[in-house]
Amino acid sequence: MVAPMNNSLTGAAAPSRGRFVNTGNGPAFQAIDIGHAEYVAVIDPDTAFWFLVKREKLTDAMLGGDLPRVYAKKTKQFAGEMNALRFGLTPSAVYFNPTERCNMNCPYCYIPEKMRRNGEHMPEKKLLLALEKLKQYFYLTLPKDSTPQIVFHGAEPLLNRQAIFAGIEEYGKDFLFGIQTNATLLDDEAVEFLTSRNVSIGLSLDAPTAQVAARTRKNWDGQGTFKQVIAAMKRLTGYKGWSIICTVTSANLRHLTKLVDFFHEKEVPTCLMNIIRCTLPSSRSLKPGDAEAARCFLAALDRTYELYQQTGRRLPVGNFANILLAIIAPAARRLMCDISPCGGGRCFFALSPNGDMFPCSEFIGLDRFRAGNLFTDEISAVLETEPFRLVTGRKVEDIEPCRRCAIRHFCGSPCPAEACEMNGGINKTGAFCEFYEEQVRYAFRVIADGKVDAYLWDGWDKGMKDTFSLSGS
Ligand code: SF4
Ligand code: SF4
Repeated sequence: MVAPMNNSLTGAAAPSRGRFVNTGNGPAFQAIDIGHAEYVAVIDPDTAFWFLVKREKLTDAMLGGDLPRVYAKKTKQFAGEMNALRFGLTPSAVYFNPTERCNMNCPYCYIPEKMRRNGEHMPEKKLLLALEKLKQYFYLTLPKDSTPQIVFHGAEPLLNRQAIFAGIEEYGKDFLFGIQTNATLLDDEAVEFLTSRNVSIGLSLDAPTAQVAARTRKNWDGQGTFKQVIAAMKRLTGYKGWSIICTVTSANLRHLTKLVDFFHEKEVPTCLMNIIRCTLPSSRSLKPGDAEAARCFLAALDRTYELYQQTGRRLPVGNFANILLAIIAPAARRLMCDISPCGGGRCFFALSPNGDMFPCSEFIGLDRFRAGNLFTDEISAVLETEPFRLVTGRKVEDIEPCRRCAIRHFCGSPCPAEACEMNGGINKTGAFCEFYEEQVRYAFRVIADGKVDAYLWDGWDKGMKDTFSLSGS
């Protein structure tokens, strides 16, 4: 899908030469307070171009000097890059649910309880057929030098272990495989199989103690699984391709800083601290307030910085690192919830165990977003159906107040599933706003203080080059 570029970005409509900031075809700059003692940020929200300036120099920097002239030469390029990122990508990954069943009963799960208790596994033969169909599709749609990704996802994929291992064995050269698991079934044999085939492994754990972790991650008898996760973490020590996902809720919010200590001590290579998705009513009871969520989350980020200072070893928090990348190198983002349209249905899609296709796992369980079936429909046709178009057509420009928000291309106004289910429409906001605002402000402070390296992965800037310089012309 390629959207026509906005005339206001290209200067095609009005005959203004764009000599002045904020009038005619001049750049539209908004200044934002990033909570820094010395610096404020100035952003062109449409292109996501920004610069930091000392508070006392704000007016001169924004309105005077060479900026409008020099920036005008780059506006089209920046607008084109943002346009390509937002509208020019095609799917290259699939969240593949090989079973409806789960051996756990976490209150925020996006899969309805009935499915998780009594649902179906995808039979091995069908799973292999699904991978074959996906391979054929990606062969036609992706550049020859790119390898599509398959992430076996929840419910609990390892309940259907034989089938997914057969798939990984058969199609190991055709896909980059990953698995997201609750870790309860990740025994020695499974770890050996997955690590020897370079499969990315994501575990789920919400807290540094058994007691707090059991508030949200428990089995059907209400028992926590902390010990099993720790055992799995031990088995994975030394392997580079694993990570932990923590879901941030009101139940673990005050333990995030300790969780950072715990992950760092256990040498977790990278983690995600994802704020809870409030798509289903059951998860809304665990929704924290924006202000407290931001305070605790930013304290945890501070802690990763302190630990890096003390030990020289980083613990990147992937979802925050992605926002930092969205600001300093938009095209290098790895996750796609913080841009609009989001990645659902345009960078990836989700597959349920009977082959039904959804724009994102977050929609599994919402019947009206079931768009077609991998075994009976053409993938390309399913991507054009109404449920997919609803999600891929959701833009911040159509959402109030996001359309006026200077950081709209660093936040993306997630999430369409939440917006529909919690707030009554695809063009509503999702569950959080201030939380995202504070993350972006923090990211700008990190940049202002020259601390970016401490929050990202090794080699994050490999191959990057500057695209703008005030002295350049
Ligand atoms: S914003 Fe929501 S629907 Fe979009 S990719 Fe993220 S979780 Fe999926
Ligand atoms: S959700 Fe809030 S921070 Fe995000 S784009 Fe909308 S107004 Fe801006």
